[in-house]
Amino acid sequence: SPTTDDDVDELGNKIDDVVIQDVSNFKEDQREHLNIVFIGHVDAGKSTISGNIMLLTGQVDSHTMAKYEREAKENHRESWIFAYIMDTNEEERAKGKTVEVGRAHFETEKKRYTILDAPGHKAYVPNMISGAAQADVAILVISSKKGEFEAGVDGGQTIEHARLAKMIGIKHLIVLVNKMDEPTVAWSKERYDDIVEKITGHLKKCGFNPKKDFQFIPASGFTSANIKDRVKPEVCPWFDGDSLMGTLDALAPFERNDSGALRVPIITSYKDRGVVTVMGKIESGTITLGQSLWLMPGRTPVQVASLSNETCNFRTGRTGENLRIGLKGIDEDTIRAGSILSEIQRPVPVVSEIEAIVALIDLPKEKQLFTSNFEAVFHAHTAVEECIVKSLVATIDMKTGQEIKKKPTFAKNGESVKCRIVLNRAVCLEEFTTNPQLSRFTLRDSNKTMAFGKVTSIGKKAREAI
Ligand code: GDP
Repeated sequence: SPTTDDDVDELGNKIDDVVIQDVSNFKEDQREHLNIVFIGHVDAGKSTISGNIMLLTGQVDSHTMAKYEREAKENHRESWIFAYIMDTNEEERAKGKTVEVGRAHFETEKKRYTILDAPGHKAYVPNMISGAAQADVAILVISSKKGEFEAGVDGGQTIEHARLAKMIGIKHLIVLVNKMDEPTVAWSKERYDDIVEKITGHLKKCGFNPKKDFQFIPASGFTSANIKDRVKPEVCPWFDGDSLMGTLDALAPFERNDSGALRVPIITSYKDRGVVTVMGKIESGTITLGQSLWLMPGRTPVQVASLSNETCNFRTGRTGENLRIGLKGIDEDTIRAGSILSEIQRPVPVVSEIEAIVALIDLPKEKQLFTSNFEAVFHAHTAVEECIVKSLVATIDMKTGQEIKKKPTFAKNGESVKCRIVLNRAVCLEEFTTNPQLSRFTLRDSNKTMAFGKVTSIGKKAREAI
């Protein structure tokens, strides 16, 4: 294509001059990659535990951790891990990268891990949703401390987070019964058993299967007992299970849609030595160095110039991987919220009207009823778009999926409803049966999530356009 002045970046590199990364001389990391998210009531110990993991896996040394801890206190930040993550990204921010998500990485001999939306951030609750939506495993942290467990469960965020995790599609939960070292608990088996029984009841109600969907670990983020190493028998003689990290390492490999069409929703982008570099999680398919792709919406042709993460380069990226992808052929301005890297042979549909099932959880006070003409902000992957409900098709029994009532005039909190939604501008979306990750969305109003949804149909026209 002809080169114009526009194709030259600030360093004088022509965007078409980007060289494909040389990977002739490196060994690809074959370890499985897992995305995890910490959820649970405030003060349960999520930051302490994620911090501990970073320390125990050598991602940060105790001296640096103490520095961040001190700075976090001075800056009235909620936790050191937040400070740490923001700090790591400071360099990238200098390169013009905007930081929207806090992510931390660690690794063991068996696997590589990304902690999504590391907690401690003030905006954690809305973030919990976008982070959890990409997680393979959620770690539900519960305080066993007298009074705290009770507050977290009765009207607290413990069960709410578990319920959201289920709706978002998290298949596996590890329930960490934390603060077992607390004097009021002192590794009491009775206290632990009581918590296990109560939480099991709640999780069953959320739709998790006690036989395979969740497991419990007693732990202390404070003393590190059962975080990396197993708790010592002299501290806790009655627990013979594995530690948190041992349990994560031992989880059976997750089913990955490697043969699906390639989809990478772009979380953020920046310029690295003149190369437009994007970050994102591969939701389906595989990506290969040198591959030609489309940036959607808009079908902008791009070529994959580099693939890497914090620890290594890749020739091929598989589903579930969080990667930095250098792109040849585009300008940074082309990338916006909602952009997706897509396979050319099977491009992602771009749609402006959908049929969806929506679970109503928290409608705003002034509009308690969900009706046609209801307006909200639609969030799917990184896309944000205004939307309006065109019509209600039927109320749905969430347990059976059966239609309860056709064409209801309204629906209320606690109900699920199939409806038609019109988006102000078209968004990259797929049907739940094709790609659940790209079908999930939330409806929000200012700062509140009022509903969760999944796209059931993108319509015949959109399907034919693929
Ligand atoms: P988050 O809001 O879930 O991220 O909770 P934090 O990690 O900030 O912890 C909240 C408070 O509980 C802090 O004062 C921690 O020091 C304390 N804490 C965290 N884990 C433990 C633990 O295992 N034992 C005890 N005794 N205190 C803990």
